Amino acid sequence: MKTSNLGHPRIGAHRELKRACEKYWSDRTPLEDLIEMGKSIRKENWKLQQGKGIDLIPSNDFSFYDQVLDTTLMVGAVPERYTNLQTSDNSLLDLYFAMARGLQKQGVDVIAMEMTKWFDTNYHYIVPEFTKDQEFGLLSLKAVEEFKEAKSLGIHTKPVLLGPVTYLLLGKEKEEGFHRLDLLPKLLPVYHSILERLSDAGATWVQFDEPVLATDLSDKGKRAISQVYRGIAETFPNLKTLLAGYFGDYGNNLDTVIELPICALHLDLKKGPDQLDRVLSSSKLNERLSLSLGVIDGRNIWKNDFASSLRLIQQAKRQLGQERTIISPSCSLLHVPYDLGLEKNEKVLSKEIKDWMAFAKEKLEELRSLKKLALSPDFESHQLFLDNVASMQRRRSSGLIHRSMVKQRVGQLDKTDYHRKSPFEKRKVLQESELRLPLFPTTTIGSFPQTKEVRRNRSLFKKGDLNEGQYVEYLKNETKKAISLQNEIGLDVPVHGEFERNDMVEYFGEQLEGFTFTQNGWVQSYGSRCVKPPIIYGDVSRPRPITVFWSSFAQSLTEKPVKGMLTGPVTILQWSFVRDDQPRSSTCEQIALAILDEVLDLEKEGIGIIQVDEPAIREGLPLRKEDWGHYLDWAIGAFRLSTSGAKDSTQIHTHMCYSEFNDIIKGIAEMDADVITIECSRSQMELLDAFHEFDYPNDIGPGVYDIHSPRVPSEEEILKLLQKAGKVLPPSKLWVNPDCGLKTRGWEETKNALKVMVSAAQQMRKAVGQP
Ligand code: GLN
Ligand code: ZN
Repeated sequence: MKTSNLGHPRIGAHRELKRACEKYWSDRTPLEDLIEMGKSIRKENWKLQQGKGIDLIPSNDFSFYDQVLDTTLMVGAVPERYTNLQTSDNSLLDLYFAMARGLQKQGVDVIAMEMTKWFDTNYHYIVPEFTKDQEFGLLSLKAVEEFKEAKSLGIHTKPVLLGPVTYLLLGKEKEEGFHRLDLLPKLLPVYHSILERLSDAGATWVQFDEPVLATDLSDKGKRAISQVYRGIAETFPNLKTLLAGYFGDYGNNLDTVIELPICALHLDLKKGPDQLDRVLSSSKLNERLSLSLGVIDGRNIWKNDFASSLRLIQQAKRQLGQERTIISPSCSLLHVPYDLGLEKNEKVLSKEIKDWMAFAKEKLEELRSLKKLALSPDFESHQLFLDNVASMQRRRSSGLIHRSMVKQRVGQLDKTDYHRKSPFEKRKVLQESELRLPLFPTTTIGSFPQTKEVRRNRSLFKKGDLNEGQYVEYLKNETKKAISLQNEIGLDVPVHGEFERNDMVEYFGEQLEGFTFTQNGWVQSYGSRCVKPPIIYGDVSRPRPITVFWSSFAQSLTEKPVKGMLTGPVTILQWSFVRDDQPRSSTCEQIALAILDEVLDLEKEGIGIIQVDEPAIREGLPLRKEDWGHYLDWAIGAFRLSTSGAKDSTQIHTHMCYSEFNDIIKGIAEMDADVITIECSRSQMELLDAFHEFDYPNDIGPGVYDIHSPRVPSEEEILKLLQKAGKVLPPSKLWVNPDCGLKTRGWEETKNALKVMVSAAQQMRKAVGQP
């Protein structure tokens, strides 16, 4: 029996890699320092895993930015715009960072490659770009070098490669007339040459990650999988291949993978615990195949329940024998923080809750324990097992988790709680007479610049160097400035500016019951960007108003209707570590009720427009289409629950950005927000066609400029976009706003851009004879 890790977090226990990268990017340190930091993180990770007795320790799971971009560099799929980037020392890393981040330096000006979410996680990868005549050639030997590096430390690793089918499918065709899977015959030789080098260097196991196996694969995709792994088995009969699909079960791809001449097949038993039965009872299961049992959750931070893991492990062991049984996390541990041991402040994370949790380091220990127990003839009386059972029991019976008030309230919900009182047309009339807005009303998405000064004051307050009174005074001043600026510019629907918020999810989590936090629970989101997700451990409720003070304060400063600003239940759920003792949908429903309380309190205080942001609704969509309906039902239900109690005359807005909306447009309509503001300035309003074709019923504010750039748009640009939008949507439905919050921008550019935007809206009004 073996233990295997699929991948380890790589940012360093204290985000060392983030700091080292950012220093290098801003020219404060030489490349050697960054390279050294990479080495030291890898060494630490390998030594840790060796110390925990892991049998199959991954290598090449480290990355300076992203493993998909690493693969792009490995196979030499460098887009043309970077090919003549002759950097001073010719380092591949500089080329690599240019692809990841773009480069503006010494007359060079190239934009970055696109970035998007890695399956249904909050990790982002760099999207490969393919042309019809795409050529590949071995360029980066990172996989081989890191194998050798570990070997020189006395550690025999299992190199991890992103499988060629997933690699191609994650990419984009940059021109018409071909399908990216057609490139496989050209790509495979590069994979073969890297395998040749790995096996020359002494590698015995190689792990191929093919997470596309958790999605609906076309027949062409399935054939590609067969072709790749049959080819590898033929050419490298001595190499032990571990094929790893994760983030779901294999579904109807199982028939394809189970017949492959591979050495081991990984099963994500967290997302698909039932598939073990199916695999073990399959007539196609050959008697040499090992199974890697992904029993430890690589996506969440809860302690493993040994009893249920051992049930699966024993079941496999009985049929396969211990030689063919491998114990693993469900996927790479990239998605969980490093080390729970670093959480020492009991005021932040209580001892009781900490006892329920495991981060990457603790999960390695769990692997070791599970192996020990699985090999012991009488594990049920083993101390390791008894300790785990006791801990599970403590969690189940903890007084912190269940709140009867919350459960009662959920139990009493009925259909009417999910519907506004009147249909949109009727609400719209009421809202018009209440709000008296002009045509093409102008607004923003919520946040105003979070300057260094704002963040400095917050951290002074957190450290205790500012008292609450002083901090609130400071925030009030910022809010005042924001309101008077919006008045001066002439925005029709001002916002308070969100200066009091560190993060749109953390801020709400901090004030809700059922949430806890960490000090060091960082997870990579993309490149050097890390997030520290809140942890939902128990029933959620809202003990007191959260945003009412700030919205009312802002409203007291202006005659215009201030828009209240909330984060929606699905986004709060999606960007947190969620409890695993009840369905996500139930947790989401509880959050929805907490947000509803806030909506009702804002309304009571005279706030007539309330925005409930749901930028993460799309990313929660399941990987397989057959599961979409169920998800959309509860996710959209939760949004509706959080907003439907509002009066007809209260205008509910929502906001979404940076996702592919076309395929869920029907769901978006069912959210029944009175207004949706949505990012689409980068796609030049293509998105609007979807809204038009679908005949989207409510009002829409398509973002008219990209807030990710410090550039101030011209009035003509904005007008053009608005006119384009005006062609597919009637003027009575159209709002005018930037495409996302302004928190990352500076004041100067914000002011200028908004002025231009307001003036463009005025032009639009003139054109329809309503100045
Ligand atoms: N209201 C939020 C803001 O303006 C929305 C952020 C987002 O869309 N992610 O910052
Ligand atoms: Zn946004």
